[in-house]
Amino acid sequence: MRQKRAKAYRKLMALYSMSFGFRQPYQVLVDSEMCKEATEHKIELVKQLNSVLQGDMKPMITQCCIHELYLLGKTQQPAVDLAKTFERRKCNHREPIPGDDCLTSVVGETNKHRYVVATQSQPLRVKLRTIPAVPIVHVNRSVMVLEPPSDATIRSKEYVRRFPFTDRVGLSLEQNEEQALHATGSEKQSLAPSASTEPPRKKKKGPKGPNPLSVKKKKVESHPPLAKDKKKVAVVGEKRKRDDTDDKETETRDQQTADSQQQDEPRRKKKRRRKAAEPVVDS
Ligand SMILES: [Zn+2]
Repeated sequence: MRQKRAKAYRKLMALYSMSFGFRQPYQVLVDSEMCKEATEHKIELVKQLNSVLQGDMKPMITQCCIHELYLLGKTQQPAVDLAKTFERRKCNHREPIPGDDCLTSVVGETNKHRYVVATQSQPLRVKLRTIPAVPIVHVNRSVMVLEPPSDATIRSKEYVRRFPFTDRVGLSLEQNEEQALHATGSEKQSLAPSASTEPPRKKKKGPKGPNPLSVKKKKVESHPPLAKDKKKVAVVGEKRKRDDTDDKETETRDQQTADSQQQDEPRRKKKRRRKAAEPVVDS
């Protein structure tokens, strides 16, 4: 692959990863036509997909798509063999449906499982472009191509950038727009600076202060700080002394609990004894 194209693909996959949560190994739904194309033109499908997606990936085929290949008979046996090496994606269509329809339903309205789709079907590709964040791969004259991001993807990415703390990734474009219209209070606030005449504030990157990982952990206190704890903070010099009294306090507390247990003990014993003393009636 040419350097320039490789760079473009790397950038594109970074977009899918950063904005839409795609992770390696990428799950690639391969359709039956793609399997045919690969075997007919001797394209090393898996290797090509790896290089186009610039990373590790897992080819998958739905039950309906492999069924389509079975229907083609013996002549397409190599394509069937190829498809059999892929992971089978359950689509739960009891009666096999056309591959395009099957893939449409598996991707759904939001591609929430983050599939990449490798398909030779033009109508399917057109349809998939309307869904945000669906990487589409096809083969053009024996060259595998990763499509540039669709308009739906770019628009959805804009929403993700503007509202980074809301989970809009799984929503369709219409739902995204709907939600954007009804921005919540905090979102309106976050939008306010750019809307007003104020100069845009610099974006804060992370919390100020030292790296939390390099700082010794604070002692976690389960109970609300008592008055004596406040005193402790104020008089650091007396720490040792205070610790001593603390120890004494805990000691006396332990003593008390021990005492109460001791008080309970004889009673329990009595009960037990009484039980034991009960005559066992043999039948
Ligand atoms: Zn199916």
